[in-house]
Parts: sequence; structure tokens; C-alpha cells
Amino acid sequence: SGASSSAATSGSTGGSATSSAATALPQGNGELIGVTMPTKQSERWVDDGNNVKSQLEAAGYQVDLQYAENDIPTQVNQIENQITNGAKLLIIASIDGTALTSQLQQAADAGIKVISYDRLIRNSPNVDYYATFDNFQVGVDQATSLLVGLGLLNQDGSKGTATGPFNIELFAGSPDDNNATFFFNGAMETLKPYLDAGTLVVKSGQTDFNTVAILRWEPATAQARMENLLTSTYADGTRVDGVLSPYDGLSIGILGALKSNGYGTSGQAYPIVTGQDAEVASVKSIIAGEQYATIFKDTRDLAAAAVNMAANILAGSEPAVNDTTTYDNGNKVVPTQLLNPVTVYKDNYAQVLVDSGYYTADELK
Ligand code: BGC
Repeated sequence: SGASSSAATSGSTGGSATSSAATALPQGNGELIGVTMPTKQSERWVDDGNNVKSQLEAAGYQVDLQYAENDIPTQVNQIENQITNGAKLLIIASIDGTALTSQLQQAADAGIKVISYDRLIRNSPNVDYYATFDNFQVGVDQATSLLVGLGLLNQDGSKGTATGPFNIELFAGSPDDNNATFFFNGAMETLKPYLDAGTLVVKSGQTDFNTVAILRWEPATAQARMENLLTSTYADGTRVDGVLSPYDGLSIGILGALKSNGYGTSGQAYPIVTGQDAEVASVKSIIAGEQYATIFKDTRDLAAAAVNMAANILAGSEPAVNDTTTYDNGNKVVPTQLLNPVTVYKDNYAQVLVDSGYYTADELK
């Protein structure tokens, strides 16, 4: 969409490393770094790619940045080409976190270090470092925003005035993305006491990760699943009060299904719908009172963390990390730099997204 391309550009404009990281950064000497991102269909990855590339270039490296439009063989080829072309280090945001084992072995054989970016690459001993946001916390924050929207909690964490019971439905991300289970587990741990007490009811009964997961985070798949729920579980006219959605793109699909079933029109409010990534269309939707909240993960900071790792590795020093226990990839626990997500509501979007220079006020009009 037009919104996504303008946001893509804008997200990157403020994109320089934090000054402390920038000062400590060893400078490169034109070494080639291969950067692979999953898709341009979601603007967060466009922002990530732009920020990583510009920050690496500013630090003296040459960058090959590739997108694979969520096609696994394409990403595999891109990584193989980067190895062949003499990349000294790879920064990879994987599509299928389990599909890169042999490429990472090739990289290791050639002495090329690998940084897993945002998504953990699984089943390989050759993942050297991981830079990401606290993915469990993202899920906690998503569920918390759902509880706040329903009035069960206040933003400060105190008990709200609502009592329920409320009907909710759950969505999860792509099963081949390691983050998706972290988001879901964080959310479910937060919702559990309310589900146990009957304050929240998943009316469809669909609470299993595998049942509610949306392959490749595809908005149309989420829209179709929401349509199905509305025309089966809710066909008797019962209202759905809340939807746990783990990604803004899915939220847009879910809101579309709700709209074509009469929500958001003539006196029928939308349910509380959550999100993630603070993509422009969804921030606009929050401002318009449609989507309720999203989780902002500043791609400038994630890029800076990965670039800091890359520069230190190539300078022969060990990058600092702040988590060495959480991210077991099935083969090893990968040393990780964890960043903090921020919940965005209608009442703080300007402070979080505009005052920080991530978007201009105009982009969100
Ligand atoms: C990222 C999320 C994003 C999702 C879909 C996840 O791996 O952590 O920020 O919403 O992929 O692109």
C-alpha cells in the first residue's frame, strides 16, 4: 500500500545508531556484510533493512541487502550468493527459522560469522549471536493491552472497573517463526487467570497454538479465519469483545472481516484488537479508534544492536550481550542482546512514535 511505502522511507530517516553505540563502534575497512530480510510486504522489515544498511555503511562496511518476499528457497539462494561473493559476516532475519542449517554450515566452513536478526535461527550450532526484542514480553504486553481495552486492567496495571465475562478469540504468528511461540506463551500466561476465572471466554474453543497460528503471518489467512469464526461461532449474534492479534498486518485482516460482518458501523463498536510493529496503517487505525493498541519495536535500535555486534566481531572482540539463557535454538543457547518493546495506545502514540522521530506527525494523518 501507499501508506507502507511512505512509512518505509520515513522509518529509516531517523535511523542512526544511538550515540553511545556509535562512539564505541570499531570502524570497518569496506568489508562486505550480507543482510537478508524476509519481505518488503511488511514495512517494519523495510525499516530494519534500511537502518541496518545505513548504519553499517556509516561504520565503514559494504552491504548487500536482500529481501525474499517470504519465499524460503529465494532466501536460501541469497545467503549462498553472499557466501560465494565473499561476505565476511551475515545478518539474517529468517523466513523459516529451521531451513538454513546447511547454509549456516557453509558459512561456518568459510569462517563467516552469523547474527540472527529479530528471529532466532534454529537447529544450527553456527548462529553466533542474536539481536532481538524481548519476545515473551511482547506477548505479555499484547495481552495486557487487550485487558486494558476491555477495562479489566488500567494502563498502570491496577484493576479496572469492568467485570466481564468477555468473548475473545486468539491468533498467533507463523509456526516456523520462533518468535511466534514466545509471543503466544507470553500472552497466554497473562490471560490465563482471566480464562480460568471465566472472565474471558474463547468462545470458539480454539486455544491451541497450532490451531490459531497463521502461516507466514499472512493477513489474508487471518482475515479468512476471522470470517469463519464470525459465521460459525458468532452466527447466533453473540458479540466478540476482543481479539488477540500478534502483528499489525493480521490485525488489518481481522478488522476487515469484522467490518464486513457489521462491526465498526452504526453503533456497533469494534472489539478490542491488539497488534505489533506500529506500522503506519495500524497507527492510523488506532488514531481512528479501530485497532486498539500495538507494540512498537524501534528498528533503529535493533539495527544498532546488530551493527554493534557485527563491528565488534569483525574487529576480533566479543560483543556485549545481556541474555545468555533464554534463546536455546535446539542446538545451543545463543548469546542475545534483548531490547524492550513499548506499548502504543491512542493516548501515547504521539509521544512514542512522533516525539522520538520515528514518524512525522504528517505521516500519521
Ligand atoms: C517479528 C514481528 C513481526 C512478525 C511478522 C516477527 O518475527 O518479531 O515484529 O510482526 O515477525 O513480520
